[in-house]
Amino acid sequence: MTLPNDLKPSTIAAQAGGVIDWPSGGVVPPMQPSTTFVRDADYALVNPDNIYSRDNSDIVRITETVLARLEGAEEALLFPSGMAAIAALVRTLPNGATIVVQSGIYWGTTKWLRDFCARRQISLHEVDASDADALEAACAAHRPELVFIETPSNPWLKTVDIARAAKCAHQAGGLLAVDSTAATPVLQRPLELGCDIVMHSATKGINGHSDVLAGVLATSAPGAKTWTDIKADRHDAGAVIGPFEAWLLLRGMRTLPLRVERMSRSAQQIAEYLSAHPKVTDVYYPGLESHPGHAVAARQMQGGFGCLLSFLVEGGAAEALAVVGRLRLFHRATSLGGVESLVEHRHTIEPHTGIPPSLIRVSVGIEDAGDLIADLEQALG
Ligand SMILES: *Cc1c(COP(=O)(O)O)cnc(C)c1O
Repeated sequence: MTLPNDLKPSTIAAQAGGVIDWPSGGVVPPMQPSTTFVRDADYALVNPDNIYSRDNSDIVRITETVLARLEGAEEALLFPSGMAAIAALVRTLPNGATIVVQSGIYWGTTKWLRDFCARRQISLHEVDASDADALEAACAAHRPELVFIETPSNPWLKTVDIARAAKCAHQAGGLLAVDSTAATPVLQRPLELGCDIVMHSATKGINGHSDVLAGVLATSAPGAKTWTDIKADRHDAGAVIGPFEAWLLLRGMRTLPLRVERMSRSAQQIAEYLSAHPKVTDVYYPGLESHPGHAVAARQMQGGFGCLLSFLVEGGAAEALAVVGRLRLFHRATSLGGVESLVEHRHTIEPHTGIPPSLIRVSVGIEDAGDLIADLEQALG
C-alpha cells in the first residue's frame, strides 16, 4: 500500500490501493484461507499480524483499507452482510437507549430494528427524515443516542440532508449513522458532511456482481467508544467476513467508479424517459429536477445520482405486474447495484408496508441504455 494520498477514487479502486503481492510480484493479492497461523520454536508468531482468522486476515485488511480510502474514512470494518453491519452498530447501544430512524427505508432494517428495540427496551422513533424540520423536532424531543438515516432511500429515493441531520443528532448528544448503500462511496461521502458512521450493504453496488454478501461500517473517529465497541463486538461475537468473499469484493471494487458512472448516466436517461411516458404517473429519482430532494441530492452527491429508481404506472398491482412480466432484459429479482439490470414489484414482496401497488423499482445495470429503454418501451406498451 504505497499509493500517494491525493489520488482519485478510480485510481485507488483500479489498483486496489496499490497492492502488490511480495515476493511473487503478483498485481492481485492472494487469498489465504487458513484459519490459524503458526508460531516458531520460541513460541513467537511467525507473522505478528496473524493469529487466527476471526482476529485477522490479510485480504480482509487490504479490502477494508481500500474501502476506507474510497469513503474518506480513517477506518472501515467489513461484515458478512449489510444487516450484520447494522446489527453490530446498534448492539453497542445500552438497554433503555433511544433511536431515531428514518421511516420508509430498507424494510430489512426497519423490521430488525423494531424487533431488536422491543427486546432491549430501546425506544425507537420512526420519522420521515427527508423532512428536515421533522427530523430536527424528533431529535430535540427524544434526545436519541443514535440517529439512523438512509439516503437516497430504498425504494422511495427520498433524500436526507446529511449535514443538517448530523447537526441535529449532535445537538441532541447522539451520533449520526448513514446507510449510503444506494449512493456507494463514489457518489456520496457522508463522513465529510459530519456523519459519524457510514454503512453500506457491499452486497449491492460496491461488489456490483451479485455474487457476494457483505457489509461495511466506516468512520473518521476510530478512537470513539462506539467504534471500539463495534470492533470488539465483531471480534468477540464473530460476525466476520470470509477471505474468499473479501477477495471477490476487492476484485469487484476495481471497476466500482466505472460501473457507478455508467449506471448513474443510464439511470438518469431512463428516469427522464419514464417521466415523459404517458402510462407513467410518477418517477422517483433524485437526479430529476422535479424530485423534492433534488437540490439536497445535487449538493451532497457528486458525479450522478445512482442506479436505483422507482416509478408508478397507471392502474394497480395487475397493471404493474403485467409491465414487469413483459420485461425481457430486466431480471425480475430483488437487490440492486449489480452489472445486470433488475426489476422488482415491492408491493408483492411487502404488501403491508405502504408500498403502492403500482410501484415498480428498477436497478439500472451497465447494459446499453438504449437497449434498456427499448425494453421498457415494449413492456409499457
Ligand atoms: C440490501 C440493503 C441492506 C441489507 O444488506 P444485506 O447485505 O442484504 O444484509 C441494507 N440497506 C440497504 C439500503 C440495502 O439495500
